[in-house]
Amino acid sequence: MYKDHFEYFSNNKSVYLDNAATTQKPIQVLEVMNDYYTKFCANIHRSNYSNANKATTLYENSRTYLQEFINAKEKYELIFTKGVTESINFVATSFVKDNFDTVIISTLEHHSNIVPWHMQGRTLHQGLEVVNCDENLNFDLAHLEELLIKHPNSFVSIAHISNAFGKILPIKEIVKIAHAYNAPVLVDGAQSLAHIKVDIQDLDVDFYAISSHKTFGPTGTGAIYAKEEHLKSFKPYQTGGATINDVSFERSIFLDSPYMFEAGTQNIAGVLGFHEALKFITTIGYEKIHKEEIQLYSYLRKELSTIKEIQFYTDIKDSIGSLSFNIQGLNHEDIGILLDKQHVLVRCGHHCAQPVMKYLNIEGTIRVSIAFYNDKYDINKFIIALRKAIEILKD
Ligand code: PMP
Repeated sequence: MYKDHFEYFSNNKSVYLDNAATTQKPIQVLEVMNDYYTKFCANIHRSNYSNANKATTLYENSRTYLQEFINAKEKYELIFTKGVTESINFVATSFVKDNFDTVIISTLEHHSNIVPWHMQGRTLHQGLEVVNCDENLNFDLAHLEELLIKHPNSFVSIAHISNAFGKILPIKEIVKIAHAYNAPVLVDGAQSLAHIKVDIQDLDVDFYAISSHKTFGPTGTGAIYAKEEHLKSFKPYQTGGATINDVSFERSIFLDSPYMFEAGTQNIAGVLGFHEALKFITTIGYEKIHKEEIQLYSYLRKELSTIKEIQFYTDIKDSIGSLSFNIQGLNHEDIGILLDKQHVLVRCGHHCAQPVMKYLNIEGTIRVSIAFYNDKYDINKFIIALRKAIEILKD
């Protein structure tokens, strides 16, 4: 039982199906963080005594592990951040702002891959372009190419997996097309690492934003992968201690990447916890994780299909993790409240993806999002609770 690795599940009898919002954390992640705070708490990259050196070594080992985990070429291509939101804001400010006329995104983006572009004064057709999707929310590669031809100095910023609908976007094809027009590609990987193996060199992306708390690690931690060739044109978007080689009142000379981009005291316990979460994934193995999830996702879809008022917005093809739907004639928020009363935890709303909700002409959805530790028991309990909620609301 995978749930045995998570203390959360012995303390909570509710069915947890909100993994796209955040995942639960295995015991070893919490232990490592506790060890840091209780046994060798010290700042990193500064003092030169044994506990400080131990903390620095473990922090840097975490970077190396992440590099190997996603098969990045160089360790210094990985910069720790507080999550995907900070990672995208970082690239937007430090790299994209003054260098690109147009940013191209998809219809399915999370607000954190839309609002940073608005903050640069980019709005639809004024520095921001959106790639169409079909009726099943599949990405339109031909439209991407049209946009790249029309807007020669573009930057492409796309989610790997939609948090709202679970659609996997064709990143390899997107990158191939974008690179043919000299457009770098940032991928919002918030929803990927919990479900699928990511090989940065194989995807050939320029930037990849990573979230620890969506990947069985602690909150407040994440990373940005930045391809070596771009690092020299990156400016630090925040500065301060630890980024500096030499400072006088006349000027500041920065260290090299990644240190020049990690200003101030970092989330040391968070990074060590994230490292442990990645090790946990390695122990279980993506093959197993993927197989379990695909089976469970199909089962969930099949069971939901037996409810006659169900409305889906995607087919099941190229989908993983999140499944969104509505019940015709009923309000999604009302259903969420009744599910909670029956101890089934899902998210109902727009999932920080309002533009795609507007595109579909809906306010929001009921979203079930699974992780590999969920099982048929969870799905069966959810379906029973959903049927009951529908019955009550239709009365
Ligand atoms: N992008 C997507 C697709 C997400 O699902 C989320 C989190 N809901 C984010 C970005 C933001 O990630 P973080 O919480 O790590 O900042």
